[in-house]
Amino acid sequence: MQQDKTGLSQSLNNANFADRVLTWFEDHGRKHLPWQQNVTPYKVWVSEIMLQQTQVATVIPYFERFMASFPTVESLSEASLDEVLAHWTGLGYYARARNLHKAAQQVCQQYNGVFPTTVEQLEALPGIGRSTAGAIISLSLNQRATILDGNVKRVLARHQALEGWPGVSKVHKALWDIADQFTPTDNCKAYNQAMMDLGATICTRSSPSCLLCPVSTDCIARAANTWQNYPSKKPKTIKPIRTSTFAILRNTQDEVYLIRRPEQGIWGGLWCFPEIDKPEDIHFISPPAHKTETLPVFRHTFSHFHLDIEPIVFTMSRSTAEVREDSGAWVSIEDAMLKGLAAPVVNLLKQLQTRARS
Ligand code: SF4
Repeated sequence: MQQDKTGLSQSLNNANFADRVLTWFEDHGRKHLPWQQNVTPYKVWVSEIMLQQTQVATVIPYFERFMASFPTVESLSEASLDEVLAHWTGLGYYARARNLHKAAQQVCQQYNGVFPTTVEQLEALPGIGRSTAGAIISLSLNQRATILDGNVKRVLARHQALEGWPGVSKVHKALWDIADQFTPTDNCKAYNQAMMDLGATICTRSSPSCLLCPVSTDCIARAANTWQNYPSKKPKTIKPIRTSTFAILRNTQDEVYLIRRPEQGIWGGLWCFPEIDKPEDIHFISPPAHKTETLPVFRHTFSHFHLDIEPIVFTMSRSTAEVREDSGAWVSIEDAMLKGLAAPVVNLLKQLQTRARS
């Protein structure tokens, strides 16, 4: 087989590829996931956004809680961003939740609450890329549309032994071309679900079960025993390290002081402890704290940098203390846990709860 410089096959080894995948799906595909019951574009959309960067087992309880609170796109559009973020606490990548909320409002305003049915219209909504748009159209309407999520990329990159990191545009384009050529006209719903399942359950990242794979007979990486090389890994970059000091203010009613962060920037719209440069900067509390305690520094890693967090607990001698901070509130730890919280804040609140009990 000839390959061009990107490694893309000139003619794909695709004899009956879709048929084999569909036959495998009949017996081995996943058909009982919560978003596969009474399928709607709304359910597919929410599940696809949650499944980005997140495993199915983790997503299921989040999806069920989300659907119980926001059963329709209208209910999501009418909710406050705070409520939506509270349902996202722990899932990470909070821009996904902010975009869901914005897109729900656009679907209601521009389309009267009915999801548009073309990839182009869907892609114009916040947070919806080409693959998510393809999934919404194919999985909920059974119309032909191509998808290329992380699982599908892995299967195709190995099957075609496609060189190069998918973040590079020519590799990305080559993968889309392969995905498009393999996608059948009929039964696209089952095919796309099957490809996601194949990547998630058979062609796994670190130990693919090639003996059980329906496309193993013409998989180039399997024949060469080079599946580990595909898809190529992102070139390593050293993440910069930033530091932050969290001021954990506690009053004698066992409440903590949280502020809501601006919607732009990291942890946008989430509740967090105030950040200070150094302990002396805690001038915004009146009267001043009577006791301070520094907790161990810990690291939270974002996609582009590490954040080393030093938490300092400031204990008040009063039940009330004036804090000159905008958009802040004293809340019990139990009530705080119901808000949209940055992940390190959840960890620290749990530590405080454990200390209070011991
Ligand atoms: S044969 Fe193995 S490496 Fe190739 S697609 Fe199937 S599971 Fe993946």
